[in-house]
Amino acid sequence: MQTKAYAAAAAKAPLAPITIDRRDPGPKDVVIDILYCGVCHSDLHTARGEWPGILYPCVPGHEIIGRITAVGKDVANFKEGDVAAVGCMVDSCRTCDPCEHDLEQYCTGPHGFTGTYNGAAKGGLPNTFGGYSKQIVVDEHFVLHIRHSEEQLAAAAPLLCAGITTWSPLKHWNVGPGKKVGIVGIGGLGHMGVKLAHALGAHVVAFTTSESKKQAALDLGANEVVVSKNAGEMAAHAGSFDFILNTVAASHDLDAFTNLLKLDGTLTLVGVPEHPHPSPSVFPLIFGRRSIAGSVIGGIAETQEMLDFCAERGITSDVEMIAMGDIENAYERLLKSDVKYRFVIDMATLN
Ligand code: NAP
Ligand code: ZN
Ligand code: ZN
Repeated sequence: MQTKAYAAAAAKAPLAPITIDRRDPGPKDVVIDILYCGVCHSDLHTARGEWPGILYPCVPGHEIIGRITAVGKDVANFKEGDVAAVGCMVDSCRTCDPCEHDLEQYCTGPHGFTGTYNGAAKGGLPNTFGGYSKQIVVDEHFVLHIRHSEEQLAAAAPLLCAGITTWSPLKHWNVGPGKKVGIVGIGGLGHMGVKLAHALGAHVVAFTTSESKKQAALDLGANEVVVSKNAGEMAAHAGSFDFILNTVAASHDLDAFTNLLKLDGTLTLVGVPEHPHPSPSVFPLIFGRRSIAGSVIGGIAETQEMLDFCAERGITSDVEMIAMGDIENAYERLLKSDVKYRFVIDMATLN
């Protein structure tokens, strides 16, 4: 079947309309009419060829919410008419140890997990195509239930990447009451990190390079805000954090943050900049037994847990709706940290 989409034809080409093929739905597949798709900085890194191994044409988009229009005969958990969501993965080997433990994002099968875009596609198609499109076909194992209200659907879309990518490390490193937690970079991921760490009961400090986001970060749930360019403000927090989550999409000095950890504290990186960070110094790591770690998205069961947690508490993303045709302008604004705090494409505008 064919569907309308927006694609980059090459790394330096602006996104433009295209018609793509979707595989015919198999017995375990769900067909979704896409209503909304969030705009992640990973979409930009990928479309612009900032990461290795990007295949073109490239249809980005992995924060997908829509309505199911058809289900295969063996689909057990979804039915036609349901609101459903798809995040960053559409398949994995299902049999390796991480897959068997609901950690599909760390699949050790021959190809790792299949990305919603730029992954290996089934059914004779080239690479997988993401959510900047009218329809998608996905195995039900990788489809999520959405329990937010109809009015909240657009703002719930960013939970599928920004939400789970911050939730998973916050849970893994036991963020909760009594913990002092830093969130670095108040963009799409970072603003969800602040909301979720606050909802989990931690004392939250937001780190931003944008003076203009100070009040907004407090409104999102931060207890304190630090402008990270200000050495004096940074020094006031030296040696005090249990955990810091760094969502910054550009290369920068990590020592400024490792120095803020207390004994056995961890700085976890989720941002994936085009150019590497300067090599961190050993001194702040050994004096304090501190760690630098990484984390990628989250498993499917954990994503459902996060979505249900957010639906129960009315947590959504702060979004700015855009038309599909405005995507290039949205990317330019992302590069200037000028987004409060996630662009979401209204897919009704793709015609
Ligand atoms: P975003 O909305 O563009 O937010 C990034 C924020 O980083 C900006 O808003 C800005 O916040 C800060 N920042 C930007 N340039 C900076 C610089 N030069 N120095 C310091 N801070 C800077 O991006 P996003 O969608 O949240 O994604 C963030 C990163 O995470 C991207 O690299 C993305 O590819 C990656 N990602 C990783 C995963 C994973 O599974 N690990 C999943 C999704 C995304 P302030 O204005 O507050 O400083
Ligand atoms: Zn993403
Ligand atoms: Zn696997």
